[in-house]
Amino acid sequence: MVPVHPNKYRLLAAERRAPLRVSFEFFPPKTEEMERTLWESIARLAPLAPSFVSVTYGAGGSTRERTHATVKRILAETALVPAAHLTCVAATQEEVDEVVRSYHAAGVRHIVALRGDPPDGIGARYEPHPGGYAHACDLVAGIRRTADFEISVAAFPEKHPESASLAGDLDALKRKIDSGASRAITQFFFENDTYFRFVDRVRAHGIDIPIVPGILPVQNFKQARNFAERAGAAVPQWLADRFEGLDDDVATRRLVACAVATEQVLALAGQGVTDFHFYTMNRAELVYAICHQLGIRPAVAKVAA
Ligand code: FAD
Repeated sequence: MVPVHPNKYRLLAAERRAPLRVSFEFFPPKTEEMERTLWESIARLAPLAPSFVSVTYGAGGSTRERTHATVKRILAETALVPAAHLTCVAATQEEVDEVVRSYHAAGVRHIVALRGDPPDGIGARYEPHPGGYAHACDLVAGIRRTADFEISVAAFPEKHPESASLAGDLDALKRKIDSGASRAITQFFFENDTYFRFVDRVRAHGIDIPIVPGILPVQNFKQARNFAERAGAAVPQWLADRFEGLDDDVATRRLVACAVATEQVLALAGQGVTDFHFYTMNRAELVYAICHQLGIRPAVAKVAA
């Protein structure tokens, strides 16, 4: 057994003892082919009994209808618990509240509440919509006022790209929790120490909700490096080295991706982390294999002998 790190990192006591749990993030599909891939992936991953599956909300609120449709189909056709992402972008408070009410009426009980990125893209100045929610903490408070939901929020181990300091981010995270969020999911990261240092800072800031690591299995290194640049996540040289020369070798890349992500999650689990949120990119294969190695297997109905 891998020993739990001796109190170096302030994981919650409950986190150190609990069994492993996973959640999966999907994005709403744009085409029929993408829709097929998504539903094949959901069907493949569903037997792993995730705590929840979340569906993103496109930049600028652009996928509003598709996010709804995907979440509602998950509710109608599976036994999975959906979590709908919702942002403050390009909508008034009344419009957002209406979305919240319609989710509640449809039976959704978990929202991932986000500010969203500037409609002109990451790096542009963020201007709240006139009459809209300005920050994620305001959205969390609005959801709380509107209906009863479990609310998750975003956290950034390497600092939000717009923030001057991590301390400012921790204040923002605290406000989201004080407004009613009960779980934070992190931006992806590749160095586990980055996550553990962040959890230490979070706990020292008086925040005691679970900080669930967001895991991005890297199947396409170039694409992941682009995501990381935009998200402000560091890409270590060792990671680039692992994928060096594999740009045109999909099969080997997939094996390396599985090894890299498995090493990451096993190391996190070895230090007492119990919950993992996977950015699936709507693909099941890698995530399924990684979960298998975490010991997460399809739930098989028990049949009396
Ligand atoms: P906030 O918590 O509002 O923080 C944004 C910035 O404002 C930070 O720099 C913060 O320090 C600062 N800030 C916060 N509150 C205040 C305040 N009161 N006063 C001054 N400054 C403040 N984007 C999408 O468009 N759709 C998605 O589905 C989506 N899903 C995501 C899921 C996860 C797990 C993560 C980690 C990110 C996701 N994002 C998504 C990206 C997210 O919307 C962006 O990173 C966005 O720029 C920040 O969102 P936030 O909720 O952290 O905002």
